[in-house]
Amino acid sequence: MLEGKVAIITGGTRGIGLETVRTFIENKAKVILFGSKKDTVDKAIETLKNEGLEVDGYYPNLNNFSEIEKTLEEINNKYKHIDILVNNAGISANKKIEDTTSEEFEKIIDLNVNAIFNMSKAIVPYMKEKGGVILNTSSMVGIYGQASGVGYPASKFAVNGLTKSLSRELAHYNIRVNAVAPGITNTDMVASLPKEMIEPLIKTIPLGRIGEPRDIANAFLFLASPLASYITGVILSVDGAARN
Ligand code: NAD
Repeated sequence: MLEGKVAIITGGTRGIGLETVRTFIENKAKVILFGSKKDTVDKAIETLKNEGLEVDGYYPNLNNFSEIEKTLEEINNKYKHIDILVNNAGISANKKIEDTTSEEFEKIIDLNVNAIFNMSKAIVPYMKEKGGVILNTSSMVGIYGQASGVGYPASKFAVNGLTKSLSRELAHYNIRVNAVAPGITNTDMVASLPKEMIEPLIKTIPLGRIGEPRDIANAFLFLASPLASYITGVILSVDGAARN
């Protein structure tokens, strides 16, 4: 479904991002994964190599615009075009507001929001002639809110705002901008949250199970593919009808 396309996926070293990398490669895209540091990027490349999948990797600081620009230039020189960007890197939070410092709040906004602004701004010059696809990872809590860790849902509401607004701003370049809003998904992010918080939530999911990374990756695949050629500005819930 992605033959001939070059895709960059941030937060591609594990969880939803790594599974999206796998899914895109299986569908014939050339994939470049981004991670936060060299050793996790190398580890992801090695894991995929052992599965017979070829991938390239970089680790620019997503809050440093000139570092991103340099990395994209290098990728474009190597692959000649960049067609798809998946802004997936993200961190979560679960502390009550009274226990959250402003630095902790800003750290979430820096990665979950400012990094998407930086990556999207830097990618436009590479997509504006031939069109392209920008996909963002939102969350079900970016629709319903969450009863603790307010920085996280706040960041995902912002992701939805970036998605809907950029879909309008960039449509005339034929750049489509969409988001996937996962429910609770089986990754390290969820493993790091307290069981008392997660288990009651899973019981309320109408489809009766937690989401798997492949459930989310398949939604990204659809939105990245020509099957979604007339879809832009959409926040696609992939959450088993969880409504918490
Ligand atoms: P994860 O913790 O397994 O993976 C997070 C990824 O982000 C990793 O690849 C990591 O390298 C990258 N990352 C973390 N800090 C970074 C930094 N400072 N700079 C660059 N990259 C950094 O989590 P996941 O569950 O796979 O989450 C992926 C996305 O899905 C996130 O945006 C998250 O908010 C979203 N999400 C997850 C769930 C869930 O239940 N797991 C639900 C809804 C949304």
